Amino acid sequence: MARYKDEQCRRCRREGQKLFLKGDRCYSDKCSISRRNYAPGQHGQKRAKLSEYGTQLREKQKTKAYYGVGEKQFRKYFEMASNKKGVTGENLLQILESRLDNVVYRLGFGTSRAQARQFVNHAQFEVNGQKVDIPSYLVKPGDVITVREIKKDNSTIKANVEESAKRPVPAWLEKDNEKMSGKVLRLASREDIDIPIEEHLIVELYSRN
Ligand code: SF4
Repeated sequence: MARYKDEQCRRCRREGQKLFLKGDRCYSDKCSISRRNYAPGQHGQKRAKLSEYGTQLREKQKTKAYYGVGEKQFRKYFEMASNKKGVTGENLLQILESRLDNVVYRLGFGTSRAQARQFVNHAQFEVNGQKVDIPSYLVKPGDVITVREIKKDNSTIKANVEESAKRPVPAWLEKDNEKMSGKVLRLASREDIDIPIEEHLIVELYSRN
């Protein structure tokens, strides 16, 4: 059997669920989770029962993979979330959702967070009229995110806008397909975030240290 090499799909298989890391493929029958929903590797089909610590750790790893965030930055977000009023786990998800690369993805300009991050890195977007090429930039209510005028001919972004026009955007965002822009109406609440994460496990994990 050919060696299985796709790192992003391996991550999904390790977590036992779709993390939607590859855009359109994730919604097709080519998705590896649909075809082989067991962990990668020789012993992948025998899923070991995880300890409490292992479960908490997996939840953190899964959340980092969803948002494409490294350990150091994730820890920084956790500290920001702890210092905010409210429920730490929900604050953490709200901060992650506020990243510019995530917002570009949520608005449908990118088919995955990875593609959205690449667009931001390549300075395809502006926020409130200013070029922003930092994927971790945190948006605020009232911010307007627009494809830069000189980038509006980008065929991939145009195709994504066309394709995503049929899909609704989350309630905390508003999109104008004509102008290739979107507005942050408010920050995301827990109910707006449709990914299966048990954020309390992450809080419990960091509380151990
Ligand atoms: Fe691969 Fe996407 Fe399916 Fe995950 S959800 S296994 S990234 S195709």
